Amino acid sequence: MRIRAAVLREPGCPVAVEEVELDPPRADEVLVRVAAAGVCHSDVRLADGELGEGRWPMVLGHEGAGVVEAVGDRVSAVAPGDHVAFSFVPACRACRACLAGRPNLCEPAARHSLAGMLMDGTSRLHADGEVLQHGLMTACFAERAVVAAAAAVKIPPELPLWQAALLGCGVVTGIGAVRNVARVGRGDSVCVIGCGGVGLQVVTGARLAGAGQIVAVDRSRENLERARTRGATDVVETGDERTVRAVRKLTGGGADHAFEVVGSPETIRLAWGAVRPGGQVVVVGLVPRGVEVSVPGIEFLSDKSLRGTYYGSGDAARDIPELAELALTGELDLAGVVTHRTDLDGVEEALGRLRHGNGARTVVIVDEELAG
Ligand SMILES: [Zn+2]
Ligand SMILES: [Zn+2]
Repeated sequence: MRIRAAVLREPGCPVAVEEVELDPPRADEVLVRVAAAGVCHSDVRLADGELGEGRWPMVLGHEGAGVVEAVGDRVSAVAPGDHVAFSFVPACRACRACLAGRPNLCEPAARHSLAGMLMDGTSRLHADGEVLQHGLMTACFAERAVVAAAAAVKIPPELPLWQAALLGCGVVTGIGAVRNVARVGRGDSVCVIGCGGVGLQVVTGARLAGAGQIVAVDRSRENLERARTRGATDVVETGDERTVRAVRKLTGGGADHAFEVVGSPETIRLAWGAVRPGGQVVVVGLVPRGVEVSVPGIEFLSDKSLRGTYYGSGDAARDIPELAELALTGELDLAGVVTHRTDLDGVEEALGRLRHGNGARTVVIVDEELAG
């Protein structure tokens, strides 16, 4: 079928809407009518060519929600009419990582995602005979998306789809980093560096975990205000060396946990300086390919740890429905992080806002009626 989709032709060229051809779902795949999609910093990294060569032409968009329209012969987990949020790691449940209980690191999913293909290594997207890549196996800046069945996670239909659109990346990643990686405990002190779409979810996760102190750090006063309304107890408006002193002072010698949600060597260094001996730094931000990060090695003697995380380091198929329930009970405020709404033609402008650090999250409303 013909669909409208936002296509990255090559880095440096504006992402623009084109009519492209979408093939029907194969046996283990589903066709989803997209209601809404969130614009994430990873889309900027992809659009700017910072995640490696050859990742174009590509239909972008990896966090979104919609309604299942058709399913392949072997699909039983979802049926037409179901509301779903996309997960961009459709775990195979059979590889070494999956069997070790780390489905976020599913090996075939990682391999095909990097190639821009679905789980069988092929694409359903093309234009004028040319194959298009599926952005992070999702490609949901489009009217319809064909994804692996495991990438369409069923959610309660009561949750408005424009809010559910945020679940599959920012929310899973931010709250997963708190719960599954740092395992923040009641009364712990937490520092969050970078309070955009994902950073605000880290703040929320820390509040839900019962953190005693949540220090939010950002250069943008608006982002800090949003962090405050979501549970930050203190805010620091800088992004330079003074940050470390300020956080140490506020937390009486350093935080128990620091989350870096920017993806730059400087802010990772700040996060390292902001934790106390025995504390840990979790790097949630996406660092461009080829960029090195360094910290003063002597400080490993203080039992500090520095670790990474991918996609919340949990199981999205389990976490997404649970987070959707939290959103329904009001414990998780999804609407509050949305600063802009646009349509498919507004994707490039939304990427521009993220490049300049303006606003938290743009939601692309693909289908007004479905989005709610
Ligand atoms: Zn994302
Ligand atoms: Zn796997």
